Amino acid sequence: MDRRRLSEAWFKWHLIEMKIGLGERNIDTLVCSEVDAEIQRLLPRIHEHFTEKWSGSHHCDNCKSKDCSQALIIDGHMKGTRLVCDFMEGDICCEEIGSITVGCNQTPVKGSYFCVNHQHSLMKVNKIETQPDTDENQHSLQCKTEKRKQAANKHRSAGICCAVYSCGVVVGITELFGCESLSQVYVFLTWLWHAVQHFPRLFAYDDACHLKRYVNSRQKTAAGKFIANLTMVVDKMHFKNHVDKWCKQNVNPHKVKEFCDLNTEACEQTFKFVSQFKHATKHMTYASYNLFHLIMCNMYNEDKIIKSTKRIKLQSH
Ligand SMILES: [Zn+2]
Ligand SMILES: [Zn+2]
Ligand SMILES: [Zn+2]
Repeated sequence: MDRRRLSEAWFKWHLIEMKIGLGERNIDTLVCSEVDAEIQRLLPRIHEHFTEKWSGSHHCDNCKSKDCSQALIIDGHMKGTRLVCDFMEGDICCEEIGSITVGCNQTPVKGSYFCVNHQHSLMKVNKIETQPDTDENQHSLQCKTEKRKQAANKHRSAGICCAVYSCGVVVGITELFGCESLSQVYVFLTWLWHAVQHFPRLFAYDDACHLKRYVNSRQKTAAGKFIANLTMVVDKMHFKNHVDKWCKQNVNPHKVKEFCDLNTEACEQTFKFVSQFKHATKHMTYASYNLFHLIMCNMYNEDKIIKSTKRIKLQSH
C-alpha cells in the first residue's frame, strides 16, 4: 500500500472524529484535496477543545497522581521542525502586547522557498525573528538562557511549545516560528489563560528570569495581571544555568516550598515521547502537523491517566 494513501486515510478518519467531537452537524464526505483546508478551518476550535478537555473534569476526576494540576510547566522543543514559507506575512496576537509577526506558516511548494500564495509575490522577505524582547532599561541578566538566540533554520519552523501539568498531562500546544521568543511564549500564555479551566498559580519555565521580567512590565489587561502574579520559577534541571543574583533571588525553584516535591520536568518527558515522530512530521503541512501533535498528545494523556490509576491500585495492595 502507498504510504501516502495510508496517511490520507488516517487524517480523514481523525478529521471526521474531531468534527463529531466538536458537534459539527454536517459530516460530508471530503475528497483528499479538501482535507487539509478543512483541518485548518477547524484547527482553532480543535486546539480549544483539547485544552478544555485536559484542564477540566475529564482530567481532574480521573487523574490519580498526587501532583495533579498543581503546577504548569511550559517549554519549547526544536526537534521535529517542518519546512515553512519564507514570506514575512502572518501575525499572532494578544490583547496585552498586540500583534507580532511570525511569518507565513504554510508549506513551500516543491523547488521553492515560498508557498503557493507567495511564490509569485514581488515582495519576498526572508524572515527571522531576532528583535530583542526584553526591556532595555533593566540591567541585563548574566545567564545565557535566552531562547530567542537559538534561532531555527531560516526555512523551517522552530518546533512546538507545550504546556504540561506537573502530573505529566499536556494541556496546550502551539507551534513556534523563527525561534522560541518570549513574545510567542507570552501570546501562548494569554491564550491559555482564556482557554484553560484550571490555571494553577505555580508556573515553571526554563528561561523564567527573562520571562518574569517580561511579564512584570506588561500588566494592562486582566490576562497580563494574572500572568504577572504567577509564582514563576526556573525548572529544577535548568536552574544551574541561572548564574545571575537576580535569578537566585526571584526565580529559584528551591526557594518556593510548594515546588519542593513537584515534578518540574514534565515537558522534557513529553518531548521524549513527541520526538519519536520527528521524521514523520517534518514533511507535514501547518494543519496536519498541528492536528497530528494534538492527537498524539491526547493519546499520551489518556495513557498517563490509566497509569496513574494503576499506580494507586498497586500501592493499595
Ligand atoms: Zn493530573
Ligand atoms: Zn507563504
Ligand atoms: Zn536566569
